[in-house]
Parts: sequence; C-alpha cells; structure tokens
Amino acid sequence: MQLDALAIDESVSALFPPERLLDALRDSPVETTVIDGSTDPVVDCDAVVTFQYRERFLDVEWIHSVLAGVDRFPRDRLREEGVVLTNSTGIHGDAIGETVAGYVLSFARRLHEHAANQRRNRWSQPAWDEAWTVAGERACVVGLGSLGRGIVDRLTGLGLDVDGVRRTPVPEPGVGRVYTPSELERAVSDAKFVALAVPLTDETRGLIDGDVLAAMREDAYLLNVARGDVVDQDALVTALEEGTIAGAALDVFETEPLPESSPLWEMDEVILTPHAGSITRDYYRNVADVVREGVRRIRAGSDPVNRVL
Ligand code: NAD
Repeated sequence: MQLDALAIDESVSALFPPERLLDALRDSPVETTVIDGSTDPVVDCDAVVTFQYRERFLDVEWIHSVLAGVDRFPRDRLREEGVVLTNSTGIHGDAIGETVAGYVLSFARRLHEHAANQRRNRWSQPAWDEAWTVAGERACVVGLGSLGRGIVDRLTGLGLDVDGVRRTPVPEPGVGRVYTPSELERAVSDAKFVALAVPLTDETRGLIDGDVLAAMREDAYLLNVARGDVVDQDALVTALEEGTIAGAALDVFETEPLPESSPLWEMDEVILTPHAGSITRDYYRNVADVVREGVRRIRAGSDPVNRVL
C-alpha cells in the first residue's frame, strides 16, 4: 500500500480536538491534515483516522477507527472495495477498568445514593444493612479481551473473586474459572456483578436476554460497558422493575443518547454514564501510538496493528 498522506476526520472531535492528534503525529513520516465532514472526496489522502464512517472513505486505502468497536462500519462493503480497516482496541482497558471499579464501589458504598441525596440537601445515612464491602464478592466478566483484562485487574485488586466467559476456555491470569458462551447462564448465576466486555457481533447481539437475567442472583448488578445491543434492554427494564436483579450500571444503550422517556433514568439502583467509560484526556495520545505504529508497519510492507479487514 502507498502511504504518503493521512487525514484526520473532524468527527474525532467527539473524543478529543483533532488538532491534538495532529500535533501528536507531527513526527510521523506521512503528511497529516485535518479534514472536515464536507471534503468530497478525501482529496490526496491514502488513509483516514476517524470516529464516524462516511461513504467517501471508500476511496482511501486504509481507515483507522478511533473506537474499539467497528460495528458502525459497513464491513462487507469495505471488504469488497479492498479497504483496510483497523481499530483502537487495546487502549481502553485502564479507563474502562477504573469506570467499572467505580460502579462496583458506588453500589457497595452507596455513593450514587449519597450523591443523589446531596442534590436535594438531604442528610440520610443508609440503613444498617444497606452498605457493604466488595472483598470476597464474586464477579463474572463476559469477554476477556483488552476491556476484560482491565476490569479483571481492578476487581481482583479490590479483592473480588473473578470468573470469566470467553469463546475458548483457556485459563486467564486472575480469573478463577473460565466458562464458554454456551455456559453463560451458569457463569452468571453465582456472581454479584456481571460485567460485559464483548464486541457487538451476530453472536453477541441480545446475548443478555430474559433467560440470562433470570439466571442472575436477585442481589446481582449488571454492568454494561460493551455495546447497548448486547443486552435486551426491554428485558433488563423488566428485570429491574420486578426486582429479579438488584441494579445496573450502563455506559452504552440500544439508542444513544438514551431517550429522555427511558424508565432507566428514574431508577434508584441504576447508574447511567453517557458512553463515557473510556474517555480520558490521554485518549488522543493513545490513538496516536496506535496510528504511528500502523503507519510504520504499512510503510515497511507489513500489516498494521489491530487489523479488522
Ligand atoms: P477485544 O477485541 O480486545 O476483546 C473482545 C473479547 O471478546 C475478545 O477476547 C473476544 O474473543 C471476546 N468475545 C467475542 N465474542 C464473545 C462471546 N460471544 N463470548 C465471550 N467472549 C467473546 O476488544 P476490547 O477492546 O476489549 O473491546 C470490546 C468491545 O467493547 C468493543 O468491541 C466495543 O464495542 C466495546 N467498547 C466500549 C467502550 C466504551 O466506551 N464503553 C470502549 C471500548 C470498547
């Protein structure tokens, strides 16, 4: 592949100012520019770094997604056109791990409840049996890739016993028992926290349905930092309303932004974060590292890192 000029699509501003990435890549051997949403086609660029997919990117040779998930890209189309697609998997484990640890500690130490009371100038201590500590509790992490790894590290650090679910049941450091997807209901049945860290694929769409929710403990919490469509959101709302699980922390939703009419907004034992679990002020630096390495490898005639297509 010929790689002399790289574009940064302005849509990356959903995560960081494009100029930051431009600056971080100033030592790159390829000419790098920021393009706006209207440039048509992507003039004189061989590759584009982007948050959003645009039709005109079919003209470039390499697209790099600043997200880990590539579910929003038309993969069949790109494959047909011979466009190389890479993602930013590998950079989110620390931020997501800390976000999930935050959810876990909030539920146990009732921080979300105290924050809600503070908004109302209300001094209200929890009842004697409402607050707890997390050491010795069990978590199940579904998906043991880079997000899963970041979550496992934080939760084991807090003293939880962690099981996991992955497609091949090979051992994973820090994970007590590794289940396969066909054993999902058994895997979640003993966990206080079920954390989702799988990509959205044909196999994982609706993975957490009414049956899986019914298999969870009544005092369990579902933590979703993967993709909204991995969970049957109506079944989740029903489980929360009927109290068949204790609560949920959700960073991702079937529809984003979450519509104002969603009953999830009003639920006391639900923590909602606006797809912010991996946002960090270092995001652009982390993307720059992946892009720089991709450029280096392509120019050396080999495959870029994190190649999806
Ligand atoms: P990754 O590729 O490193 O890991 C995904 C893991 O899930 C892989 O190990 C894969 O084998 C496993 N997997 C796939 N299907 C499975 C199944 N049916 N059951 C169990 N395991 C399965 O990707 P990652 O960087 O860990 O990211 C995972 C997903 O999380 C992304 O695709 C993205 O959709 C989402 N994500 C969300 C945020 C956020 O801001 N909330 C940030 C980063 C990633």
